Amino acid sequence: MSDLPQELKRIRAEAVDFFVRVSAMDLRDGDLWGALTPSDRQCSEDILGEIGQVARRIQAVFEHEPLLGEDAIRTLRFSVRVMDAALRFRRLDVWDTHTEWDEDILRAVVPAGECENLVSASSAQSIFEEAIDRVLRLLRVAEPEPHKPPVADESESALGPEREPVSPPGRKGRKRGPPTGFKAAVRVAEIVARVASDRDWRLTPDEIGEALDHGLCDAPDWSACDSPDHEKIPLPRGWKKKGADWLNPPDRATLVKAIVYRLKLAEQLEKATPETLS
Ligand SMILES: [Zn+2]
Repeated sequence: MSDLPQELKRIRAEAVDFFVRVSAMDLRDGDLWGALTPSDRQCSEDILGEIGQVARRIQAVFEHEPLLGEDAIRTLRFSVRVMDAALRFRRLDVWDTHTEWDEDILRAVVPAGECENLVSASSAQSIFEEAIDRVLRLLRVAEPEPHKPPVADESESALGPEREPVSPPGRKGRKRGPPTGFKAAVRVAEIVARVASDRDWRLTPDEIGEALDHGLCDAPDWSACDSPDHEKIPLPRGWKKKGADWLNPPDRATLVKAIVYRLKLAEQLEKATPETLS
């Protein structure tokens, strides 16, 4: 097991220390960064440098974790930028392209963009802590702590979609690959939520299996839909070799375990992924 979570927690403590120290100056208006002493400014830059180093090591972990893949790397990079801004007492705001309406007259198309806004030291501190905690949660998904068993037994931990070749991140024009395990888990969660809605899906695992086999369907009643063109849900690793699929799982317990595993993963990743990136 790596020491990355400990590293992050140490940096977190160092940053909290810094924010608390400079919050004494919070009464001033304007740009707190400009009011820092050279040694406080150095302290902020040192923390950022440490984050950069540890983020590179975390990225290497994520690149080898098929369940996380590119979504996790995007979240990691975004979080580093948020922390960078927070260490300069700024909040990074990012938005997608959207339209603004006045009654029903289109007023403006606002292109995607971002900006930084000045914040107080205490706001910067909570923004920073939120971002670093997000990375910690992702890291926990990638590297469960040794004393806590992973969410499923070892036969299940080897499950997941067949590993897809991961192209190096950051390279322009890379092909968008098939759904990663991350997306697959989210799809499973969506389907379970739709099919079972308010009842316990465990009571009817076969029905969930049928729905997963049917794929991502937006018909009001999926069971009456016979479209063969839906996005399919990747099978757990090893099923294909056994000739098993969602409709004919190895056995019901294995099916339930596979679904539980994906629901837990989806839940953990939902907590770990900021909405702006979904
Ligand atoms: Zn359908």
